[in-house]
Amino acid sequence: MQDAGFSDRVAGVLVGTAAGDALGAGYEFTRPAPDAVIDMIGGGAFDWAPGEWTDDTSMALAVALAAMHGPGIDLDAVAAGFVRWYDSNPPDIGNQTRLVLSERPGSARAMQAQAMSLTGRTGGNGSLMRTAPVALAYLDDAEECIAAAGRIGLLTHHDEHAVEACKLWTYAVRHAVLEADFDGVRKYVSRSSHAEFWTDRLDEAERGTPDDFANNGWVVHALQTAWWAITTTESSGPEHLPLALAACVRAGNDTDTTAAIAGGLLGARWGASAVPAPWRAILHGYPGLTGADLPDLALRIATNCR
Ligand SMILES: [Mg+2]
Repeated sequence: MQDAGFSDRVAGVLVGTAAGDALGAGYEFTRPAPDAVIDMIGGGAFDWAPGEWTDDTSMALAVALAAMHGPGIDLDAVAAGFVRWYDSNPPDIGNQTRLVLSERPGSARAMQAQAMSLTGRTGGNGSLMRTAPVALAYLDDAEECIAAAGRIGLLTHHDEHAVEACKLWTYAVRHAVLEADFDGVRKYVSRSSHAEFWTDRLDEAERGTPDDFANNGWVVHALQTAWWAITTTESSGPEHLPLALAACVRAGNDTDTTAAIAGGLLGARWGASAVPAPWRAILHGYPGLTGADLPDLALRIATNCR
């Protein structure tokens, strides 16, 4: 089942996430001019170093590090990793995630209860942005992969669209690692109890423009922006990855997160080798890791699958 590119695609899940995140970090809350060159410039709202990833990857790595001790992912270990990251005083924590983690819940159960207690706008993109590594821990079991994505999403985001988006995207990342295509997105949706809602959203993404889903701090528009970038850029070869990440950034607003979401799936499809080498060389961030550390971490998780 494991072709020559398999290890590269496993690594690509983490490297692609980090690359999209770090690429978008310098452009967050802006809309780059159409002729702007998109590169790993750093800066942005939180003055990132070039190549530095942000909360998206830091939280994804909390999931990944919990998954390293698999098989499966221990929810309490994920929750503890989120609190450890919160305690590092990150500059860019999302509102909803802050409201949950500021209570420093001591278990997954307590964290989910805190998340459930929140009212108002609970459909942010903060659970979708960190879901890609879940796929690596369940390459041997699609149903468990979907269930785990839901459970880890629920630690902070109980909104039904957020939960479903995590399941959908994680399933698609898993499918891309195994099959080297993007068909998992539509495949998941066709079997989902929310098929009509998501089919319409995917159709809109493929036919529309970023203005049609501009509120991409919302999980649904974030997923649409990522899917728009993936499906409307030249996709015949691995240069699809940097092209689609740049498209996410050009779409504007929550650029690091939309590019991180897209990057997890693009990396799963095209492999870590599709991330341009100058980008890979400067990736770094919490918890003191670099781009060079990510392939080994990803492969260790994948190897833990029964
Ligand atoms: Mg971020």
